[in-house]
Amino acid sequence: MREPRRFDVVVIGGGNAALCAALAARERGASVLVLEKAPEPERGGNSLFTAGGFRFAHTGLEDLRKDVIPDLTPGEATSVEVAPYPEESFHDDLMRLTENLSDPDLADVLVTRSRPTVVWMRSHGVRWILMFGRQSFRVEGTHRFWGGLSVEAVGGGPGLVQALYARAQALGVEVRYATKATRLLLSDQGAIRGVVYRSLQGFGEITAGAVVLAAGGFEANPEWRTRYLGAGWELARVRGTRHNTGDGIRMALEVGAQPYGHWSGCHAVAWDANAPPFGDRRVGDLFQKHSYPLGLIVNLRGERFVDEGADFRNYTYAKYGREILKQPHRVAFQLFDQKVVALLREEYLIREVTKAEGPTIDALATKLEIDAEGLVRTVREFNAAVQPGEFNPAILDRKGTRGITPPKSNWALPLDTPPFVGYAVTCGITFTFGGLRVNTRAEVLDTEDRPIPGLYAAGELVGGLFYQNYPGGAGLMAGAVFGKLAGEHAAEYTTRAS
Ligand SMILES: Cc1cc2nc3c(=O)[nH]c(=O)nc-3n(C[C@H](O)[C@H](O)[C@H](O)COP(=O)(O)OP(=O)(O)OC[C@H]3O[C@@H](n4cnc5c(N)ncnc54)[C@H](O)[C@@H]3O)c2cc1C
Repeated sequence: MREPRRFDVVVIGGGNAALCAALAARERGASVLVLEKAPEPERGGNSLFTAGGFRFAHTGLEDLRKDVIPDLTPGEATSVEVAPYPEESFHDDLMRLTENLSDPDLADVLVTRSRPTVVWMRSHGVRWILMFGRQSFRVEGTHRFWGGLSVEAVGGGPGLVQALYARAQALGVEVRYATKATRLLLSDQGAIRGVVYRSLQGFGEITAGAVVLAAGGFEANPEWRTRYLGAGWELARVRGTRHNTGDGIRMALEVGAQPYGHWSGCHAVAWDANAPPFGDRRVGDLFQKHSYPLGLIVNLRGERFVDEGADFRNYTYAKYGREILKQPHRVAFQLFDQKVVALLREEYLIREVTKAEGPTIDALATKLEIDAEGLVRTVREFNAAVQPGEFNPAILDRKGTRGITPPKSNWALPLDTPPFVGYAVTCGITFTFGGLRVNTRAEVLDTEDRPIPGLYAAGELVGGLFYQNYPGGAGLMAGAVFGKLAGEHAAEYTTRAS
């Protein structure tokens, strides 16, 4: 059934990128409809499952206090150390991690618009705080932030999503839940003219001046995972929403959009071995296990297979899920001793954790069903390879190993202080890297590099930014930056065209 009402901008998706697009379009005076495939209690996509951490360029704590976290009291500020994170550093991190493959134009937009977009979100009711718990270590009474990521939304992902929906409602954005977009409609001239959707009442058709696609990647689609990421990926656990099945990408490809980016790549992490197949909104991201730089990671044979201390966790965690998937039975174990257990992140303390403890390495191996002989040998060789030096988790301390493969390049302490603790993890997929090609106005390009008139995209389904690896906190930031751009340009286009 074709609805009589026309919307200037229809946004497909209900996460961070979609809501930023909706707010930006509404701010420009457009009438805006958001179609969210999930029912209302499941709204918010992967954005809801996050810690709400945003990576953006700034020049240090005083800069942040101006217009991002002005509520930090002078007393609090004296015990905090946040190193400047200039645009060049953000850009260099992105390029270093993506093997220089990140699209330079898109990377430039992400970096240069990151800080202004964070301030813009604040003007729409998103409040920011420092990520004390996850991104800082207390060193001599001072909270030292590390790894270029220091700010999160108040209330984490749920707080972020709540704030964005509240603002959308206040501005008069219409949201329809349990409404799945299925097809894009083009005019004879090849411009967007509407969307076909399916709701509980059946199929319907909406006329739209422009459409913003923000429906996430294809991480929750086991068939596409196997097809594009490779054999075995159908067995990965999905960390977030079950609704991101590649619909937005498929719909765009069907009207001639250009596939772009690292289609066989994804963000995947160490995730509790007994986590459910999809994210649990109550537990959120706490199934992740991200303190491995403080210990050792081994497989069922008791063998190490990655450099746990290659870099800050923000720069290694997104690629280590793939390494875990390659191990026997897709499991690995993170091992720690009493020298570091007090430094483990909050996610190690949840009730739903797969953990064992033992007075000896042998006993721990037996409890975790790791080959005991193999593990004892690995730990003996590792301990003997640890070099002297001062351990400092807040910096790359270069306290490494010598003579073993793989090495541990930073934070190498012998595993020698019982009781020993071990956590069983598997591969949890976060989001996929391949998607659609957009230009710096967030317009979707066709296979001849021309914008498809009236079609915009933002968030996970945009390809070209992330290859091989990813700097923590860049996903939400990219979604917000390109979401805002998509909303602005969609509103401009539709008012110009009408
Ligand atoms: C556990 C976890 C923790 C994370 N932590 C962080 C973090 O701290 N910082 C960070 O930067 N990134 C983090 N990420 C990555 C981050 O979630 C994503 O980069 C970001 O949320 C993507 O936003 P999005 O709006 O593109 O997608 P989503 O938020 O996933 O939204 C996609 C939306 O599209 C909807 N949808 C799908 N198909 C259709 C359809 N056919 N019709 C209508 N709607 C549709 C979905 O229901 C959903 O609402 C994390 C991810 C997970 C899973």
